[in-house]
Amino acid sequence: MHEAGRTLEIAGWGHAMRRRAEVLRPEQQSRLSEALEGFGIARGLGRAYGDAALSEGRVWQTTRLTRMLSLTPEGVLTAEAGVSLGDIVRTFLPRGWTLPVTPGTQWVTLGGAVASDVHGKNHHAAGTFGQHVKELVLLTAEGQLRRISPEHQSEIFWATVGGMGLTGVIVEVTIQLAPAETGYLSVDYVRSGGLEETLEWFSGHDRRYPYTVAWIDGLKEGQGLGRAVLMGGRVTASRELGAGEARYPMPRGAVRVPFDFPPGSLSLPVGRAFNAVYYGMHKPRENVREPWWKFFYPLDVADEWFRLYGRRGFAQYQGVYPPEIGLGEIRALLRRIHAAHHANFLGVLKRMGPPSPGLLSFPREGLTLALDLPVQGEGTLRLFRDLYAMTADYGGRVYLAKDAFLTREMFRRMYPNWEAFMAVKAKVDPRGMFRSLLSERIGLGEVR
Ligand SMILES: Cc1cc2nc3c(=O)[nH]c(=O)nc-3n(C[C@H](O)[C@H](O)[C@H](O)COP(=O)(O)OP(=O)(O)OC[C@H]3O[C@@H](n4cnc5c(N)ncnc54)[C@H](O)[C@@H]3O)c2cc1C
Repeated sequence: MHEAGRTLEIAGWGHAMRRRAEVLRPEQQSRLSEALEGFGIARGLGRAYGDAALSEGRVWQTTRLTRMLSLTPEGVLTAEAGVSLGDIVRTFLPRGWTLPVTPGTQWVTLGGAVASDVHGKNHHAAGTFGQHVKELVLLTAEGQLRRISPEHQSEIFWATVGGMGLTGVIVEVTIQLAPAETGYLSVDYVRSGGLEETLEWFSGHDRRYPYTVAWIDGLKEGQGLGRAVLMGGRVTASRELGAGEARYPMPRGAVRVPFDFPPGSLSLPVGRAFNAVYYGMHKPRENVREPWWKFFYPLDVADEWFRLYGRRGFAQYQGVYPPEIGLGEIRALLRRIHAAHHANFLGVLKRMGPPSPGLLSFPREGLTLALDLPVQGEGTLRLFRDLYAMTADYGGRVYLAKDAFLTREMFRRMYPNWEAFMAVKAKVDPRGMFRSLLSERIGLGEVR
């Protein structure tokens, strides 16, 4: 039986890549294998920036698979793959459990977090999301549900963690949550005057804090290039809260950006002014108490903020480089962006820890830099190609969940485990059923 879906225009979060596709939203696990006919790719909440969750085939959105199935006294949660990370925090933080790793938005599904093997502000201390997963239920191309874990069918497990949906549909996730005494972070804010100081802070302070991040001003030139607001945080202990103070704050509602802004609204002068205001607002302060929601998901204060970039949308560059890469190379990347006259708002710089065993996982030890850039036609393509070439020359890689421009050749340079991944894919998906626009573009759709 072929269950009919609706034909819709779907897009990556940057909205520079869009596609009309038949979209299905099955509600019951028992209906899953029907949906495999004409299959393309699984999709969660569509927060991947480029084309990872777009396909020529049918797209299977998991947003109705939202049952939480069990929580053990030790904090091991089993839930369906369409449950959002925000719902997990909302449900379990008041009971003293939270996510061991969280990306910069709560609007990511469990399935999407595993498929991209997402990282957070604590990568140097806690690794990736997938490293806390105990078991997955995976719907494979032959319509079977397989239970896979780091111990059982580990080859398929580590191809699925970070595998961008290309080994099958993740249906259930079992993950070890982390204890949290309160829903607050105690945060130290530091300001650096330039890139050198920013990098020094990371070398000296990573070990002091479980959570670190730098918001860098990617538009400042000269001496101030790479100046940043640096944040180091830890979960606030309950004894630090006053008597009668709520231990677990709830999030505020978000405002919605109501329409696509006219082209060029986020121009260079606007970007410079915004970055300067942000930098100016964050005076150095110690032990500031921030609610979980504000510290981890500052961008979630606005829904659909991609509209600020207008109809042409935006793309994100996120690269990670080996530990020996630092000042000179990051400076060169920022200078290349300056030369292209693209505005960018609050880039993110962070030091990452050791890699995950995920064959296509992005994180590796060293610095990572992420910047949103408006799509401005050919110049943007040239800019990304240059940034990618520089990244590959440094021995680094770009993040598939953010990518829209990688070529097959460049992908192979950056991800040396691609052949091992393809060998597993050939076993679990011999006819190449699971495919996205990303996989076709970077040559992961071609099963031999
Ligand atoms: C504001 C913002 C901040 C972000 N911050 C971070 C960050 O700090 N760190 C980070 O690592 N990432 C970050 N991201 C990226 C985001 O975490 C990933 O793109 C994540 O995969 C999105 O999850 P999703 O549910 O929206 O999945 P989608 O975007 O819908 O899909 C992403 C990929 O997952 C696959 N997938 C989704 N569900 C399933 C499933 N059930 N089975 C198999 N495959 C599936 C899709 O096929 C696709 O390849 C951020 C994104 C945004 C918009």
